[in-house]
This record gives sequence, structure tokens and C-alpha cells, in this order.
Amino acid sequence: MPPQLPDARRLALLHALGVQQVWLRRAELDADTLTRLLPTLPGAARGVPQHAASPGEPAPQPPRAARPDARTPPTSVPVCAPTPRQQGPGAGLAATAAGAAARGAGEPSAARLQRIAELDLDQLAEFSRACRACKLGAQRRHAVPGVGHPRARVMVVGEAPGAEEDQRGEPFVGAAGRLLDNMLRAIGLARDAADAEQAVYIANVIKCRPPGNRNPEPDEIAQCAPILRRQIELVQPRLLLALGRFAAQALTGSSEPIGRLRQRVLQHAGIPLVVSYHPAYLLRMPEDKAKSWADLCLAMDTLDKP
Ligand code: SF4
Repeated sequence: MPPQLPDARRLALLHALGVQQVWLRRAELDADTLTRLLPTLPGAARGVPQHAASPGEPAPQPPRAARPDARTPPTSVPVCAPTPRQQGPGAGLAATAAGAAARGAGEPSAARLQRIAELDLDQLAEFSRACRACKLGAQRRHAVPGVGHPRARVMVVGEAPGAEEDQRGEPFVGAAGRLLDNMLRAIGLARDAADAEQAVYIANVIKCRPPGNRNPEPDEIAQCAPILRRQIELVQPRLLLALGRFAAQALTGSSEPIGRLRQRVLQHAGIPLVVSYHPAYLLRMPEDKAKSWADLCLAMDTLDKP
């Protein structure tokens, strides 16, 4: 498929996302395009990108004091720099669950693993809603199995449901969900797309809300990870996008911080894996949205590879 040219609407959307530096994928940018698009950018007349809050997002904050990694506003539109491709260890969910079990957590029974291995996506959703294999099952309001196209090209993986997801039974809702939807739309994807090429499947590593949004515990990871593993087997995405440290570490089996895992093409079960920040984090730290956009560029470049 030829690369989709960025148009004024798409760039305006990026600005609405708060991406103060507009990162264009190299494949999409040529001198003519740049000349045509620069005047369309909000704030282009002043040469200063604007940051408009997206719906449900906190109002723009005054500039913070410079941090060590702060970037100065660009005078031109930068291009996503080529990133060294790197294959990660790909230890993934099996090792994560095994590690959790080895740390004293309850290992899933052979019967549970066998049962999960036999289920399709709809059956997995029903299975999750009835599951009480860990203590989160008794405290949740709704299990949050996952949503999206069953053959989506991209699978987005988050950590665990928050309060609003627990209320509604759907992953990534509320302000963080709207931001995720806007981010996906900016790269031509949508959670409700009918066409698998533009579709995503969204799931969390843990299907029930940990009380108070605490970190999932080893026994909960050990019991729940096989459900996500089966979802990945069934959807067979061409790319995994892990959002947030917990999802990144669960899928890679690595304990490296997210700053070291992002901007690399890793592997999970033979599937390319790109790591980025969780939208809830980006709502708190909007200055990191430009990094997130760079990660989405890497994801799309990876998808475009034959
Ligand atoms: S978190 Fe996972 S393992 Fe625990 S009860 Fe919910 S679905 Fe079952």
C-alpha cells in the first residue's frame, strides 16, 4: 500500500494531540510536501507550534523548566530519524508468568492452560468474565477482556483496567482512551475499523482491576498472562504495541525501564513489538507526546516493511 500522505487535517490532529514537534515519517516527506504543509500548521505564522488540549485532556500547561531531555521548539518540521533495529530477547509472557510462578505465585494448573488453549476470542471473553483464578476476580466490577477486530493488523497491549474500564468492561476508555484513539487515528488506525488493515485489537495483560490501581502481583500475572498469550495467538497481529512499563516488561520479559525499551523493534513470539508510553502517563506528562509520536512512526515504519 502506498504511504498515506499527511494532510492538513492529520497534522492539525497531531497538534490537537499536543505533539508540539510534528514528526513525519521519512517515507511521507519530500520538499514539495513540506512546502505545501508548513503554512497549514497552527502557529506556523509565528513559527511556534501550538498545543491544544484534546477533549477530556487537561488544559495546556505553561512551559516547564527545561529538563535534561527537553527539546527546544523546532524551526522546521523534523523527520523521524532512522532507528537502529534491534531484536530483543523475546522472553515474553511465558517467561513473565513462569517468573511470577517461581517467585511463589500460584502457577496456573495444566487444566486451566489446556482450557485457555482451546478457546476462541469470544469464548476467552466469557472465560475472563467468569474467571476467579486470582483474588482480583472477587474485587472487580467487570472483567475487561479486550476489544477490536479479530484479525487486526496491530494489537495494542496495556497493563490492567483502571476505575473507568472496570465500570464499563472495556479497555482504554475515559481521557486516556480518547487520547489513545486520537493517537491511533493519526496513524490511520481505529479500534472500531471494519477493515483489518486499519483495525487494532486492544487488550490488557491483566483483565481485572487491581484495587486502587496498584501494580499487579506475581500470582495475578501468573494466572492471567495465558489469556493474553492466547489472544495474541488468535489475532496474529503483524505488530504489537505495548503501552506503559508493565506491558512492555511483560511482553519482553525484560526488567529494563521503558526509556530503554522504546525506539527499538523488539520481538514477542516472533511478532515485532514496539514499546511506548501509556496514554495516562502522557496526560500527566504532555511534553513526552512527541516521543510517543516518534514511537508510532517506528511502529508504522515497521508495519510498512515487506
Ligand atoms: S485478573 Fe485474570 S486471572 Fe485474575 S480473576 Fe481476572 S481474569 Fe482471572
